[in-house]
Formats: sequence, C-alpha cells, structure tokens
Amino acid sequence: MVLLTKSKFMNGLQCPKLLWRANQKTLPEITLSDEHKFAQGHEFEKYVKMLYPDGVDLGDLGFKENVEATTKAVEDRKLIFEAGFQVGELFVRSDLLEPVEDGWNLYEIKSSSEVKPVHYPDLAFQKFVLEKAGLTIKKCFVIYINKEYQKNGEIDPNQLVAKEEVTEQVDAVENLEDNSQKYLEIIKRDTVPDYVISQNCNKPYECPLKGECWGALPENNVLQITNWRLYWKLFAEGIEDIKDIPTGTKLSDKDQVIVETVEKGEPYISKEHIRHFLNSLHYPLHHFDFETFDTAVPIYDKSRPYQKIPFQYSLHIEQEDGSTEHREFLAEGSEDPRPALLEQLKNDLQGEGSIVVFNQSFEISLLNKLAEDFPEHKEWITAALGRIVDLATPFKAFHYYNPEQKGSYSIKKVLPAITGKSYSELEINNGGDASMLFFYSHIQPKLENKEEIRTNLLKYCGLDTEGMVWIIQKLKEMVK
Ligand code: SF4
Repeated sequence: MVLLTKSKFMNGLQCPKLLWRANQKTLPEITLSDEHKFAQGHEFEKYVKMLYPDGVDLGDLGFKENVEATTKAVEDRKLIFEAGFQVGELFVRSDLLEPVEDGWNLYEIKSSSEVKPVHYPDLAFQKFVLEKAGLTIKKCFVIYINKEYQKNGEIDPNQLVAKEEVTEQVDAVENLEDNSQKYLEIIKRDTVPDYVISQNCNKPYECPLKGECWGALPENNVLQITNWRLYWKLFAEGIEDIKDIPTGTKLSDKDQVIVETVEKGEPYISKEHIRHFLNSLHYPLHHFDFETFDTAVPIYDKSRPYQKIPFQYSLHIEQEDGSTEHREFLAEGSEDPRPALLEQLKNDLQGEGSIVVFNQSFEISLLNKLAEDFPEHKEWITAALGRIVDLATPFKAFHYYNPEQKGSYSIKKVLPAITGKSYSELEINNGGDASMLFFYSHIQPKLENKEEIRTNLLKYCGLDTEGMVWIIQKLKEMVK
C-alpha cells in the first residue's frame, strides 16, 4: 500500500522529483556524514527521554505493532514516544505526545541548535494526521539543543534540552489536504514527474540529487555568478549559459569578472591588488590549517553542542628564499585532542611571521574558542591571532579569477585552477570526509583501517598547507 509519511511530505514540499525518487528508493547511498547526523539525533533523543521517565517508548516496534500499541497507549492517556498513526494513505510517527487536559501536546525532537522554519510544516503534517485520527492537539513544540550548554562532568539533560512552543506558526501552515493529495499522486506515478531546478535544491536542505540535476547544466552556467537573486531570475527566464546573459544586464563588478573571463577563456588578474596583498606578508610564512569534528551532545568537558573540536593541523613554514619545513599534529586516541594539540601548536607557531590561512573566519573562531576554554594558552593564542593573514582575500575580492573556479573561491577550486594540482587523486579530498573518517576510526571506532586513515589524513591536511605555498609562488610569478 502507498503511504505518505512525514519525511515524504517534507520531500514533496522541496521538489516533486526528490519525492518520487525517495519513494522509488533510488536516492544516492547514505554517506558516513548522513549516518553521523542520524547518530547525533539518536544520541540527543536519549537525553530528552531522561526528562520524561514515565514515557512509553514504542520506537522499537514494527509498523503494525507500533500502530496497535499507540491506540492502546492513547486510550490509557500515556505520555508516548514514537506514537504511530495511520489514516488511510497518510502515516506519521510522532516523537512525543503528552496527554493534557482535553487533548494532547505534540513535540518534535530536533538535534538542531535552534528552531527553524522547516520545523513548522513538519509538525503541521503530523497535527493534520493526528486530528484526522481523532486526537485534539492543544499545543505544538520543538525540542532542540541548547547550544550554550557547556559540558562539565556528566551531561545534565535539564540544561542540554531546550523547548519552544510553535503552535501559532504550525497553525499558519496551509494547503495540507491539497498537498497531501498532490504528493500521493506523485508517489503513484510510473515516471518521474516534471521538476525545475530552483532555490529549493538547497532549501531547506541540500538535495541529495543536486549532483545529478545540476551536473546536466552547461559547464559555465548562470548559477556560478555571485548575485543569487539575478542568477535565479536569469535561470527562470531560461538563460542557463553565462555566454547567453543578455548584453546590458546589470552585473556587479565580481560578476562582470566572471562573465568576461568565460567569454575570453582566460583568467583575470589585478596585478596591483595582488602585489599589495603579497606585500602584506611577513616572512617566515606559517601556512596553517586545522581539521575538526563536532557532535550534537558534547563528549568532552569544556565543550558545547556542535563545537568544532580540532584534532589535526598542518603547518608549512616558508622562508623568504622559498625553503619550507613541514610540521603537523594528528591526535592518537579517543581522548580530548585539544590539550596535546595546544602544547605542540604553541611551540610550532612561536616566533614571528605571518600565519597564512585560507578563509580566516574558521581558524580565528577556533583559536578564540580554544583561548576561552583553555585560558592558560590565551596569551600566545592572542599573539598568534594578530599574525593571521587570509590567503582567500584576493580570491574573495576577485583580484584573481580563473573560469575554472566556477564561481567559487574555496581552496579546493582555487588550487587546481591556479596551479594545476588537485585533491582528486587523494583518498581523502574534503574536510567533511576527513572529519568523519577520523571520528569513526578514533573517537567512536567502527572503521578497521585506522592506520591507512591516518596516512590519508596526513596527506590531505598536508596538501591544504603545501597548496597555499604553491598558490603564493604562482601569485608572485604572475606579478613579476
Ligand atoms: S536537485 Fe533540485 S531539481 Fe533536482 S531533485 Fe533535487 S530539488 Fe529537485
């Protein structure tokens, strides 16, 4: 039997193709990062459940048993986790139902650190089905994570768990009946429904089919320009290729650079600005990069939900004559990596010279957090913060732009565009994978090839900082 579940209703709100493919079970395979998100959600739920010790948890029951047990628990006016309701072709499992005078309160448990607009239709669909099942829903709430909570000893669920009433916002969600019927019709189709690439590809979540749908666009497409309002307008008008942007379209300076470099097929460089940037560097240059992981529920003292925990860094120290020395740190076990990392980093960064990072906000916020949580290191961290120079600056400002960057100024795009060297041959080639592979081989080990992962992590992080050395060399050659 066809069933419209809560997750399919949410898929339908995002895109008909996504809903249809989700129902066909032909979405790309779940990644380690997806598994991590689910695991974080389950971990948080454990602490929510501690706050409701009288709750009946029906989460482990199969479909039929769950629905039957729900009917009984509703009759008995129990507080219920994972109550399942089927009404015709509609089905929901609600995270938490609480009996109150003349009805029930409905709670959605989210492992996010704030209430988001996407939570309202999620609850609205549940309320819609529960009311069809004969329940009176008095109030709706989102239970989420208090991001200010700092672990200090055992986790305190009373401080970790936050709650906000959203009844008004949920009641404002419209077209539940019409949308449910529309989504059921899509699910029942034999062929993929009509769909359009739109802002929904990234909203409320990045669609897992984005690579497939966006991959079919022209190589230099309008979605690469920086003004997203303009690019969606052009796209809606059927203009996909940058070369087809009508003459006279008002473009920002950055977008003008993108369009002109595509037309000419060669990079743009403002030598004056690049020289100015290079002159701001003080040797020896300390090319530096952190790798981090995070968890919803903090696992170490002196850390908060989703706080980035650095477990690795790479540092290439470059002298003015071009000679380099490489230093690195990679945590060994499952204990908090920060104390050992800080001790080594203190030595590695001592002295003078610019600390060159790519996209400084990440390193700056990490170092500030480390100084706050480990005040004994505050003095040298403050001095290091004053030496930071952001190598992304000339690329963010489009003082150099190569059409190969495809509108991006991330180091993953800049490095191959400017040096011809890339991450593609590495086993680990992005920070997300580095984080997950470290976490599941060291912190909560379930991967067996720990030594191989360590070798690949060192290669990956090392390329980030060696890549910065190469980028600066290339910039110097360009302005000679
Ligand atoms: S990438 Fe966009 S168009 Fe493609 S299925 Fe996802 S939301 Fe729909």
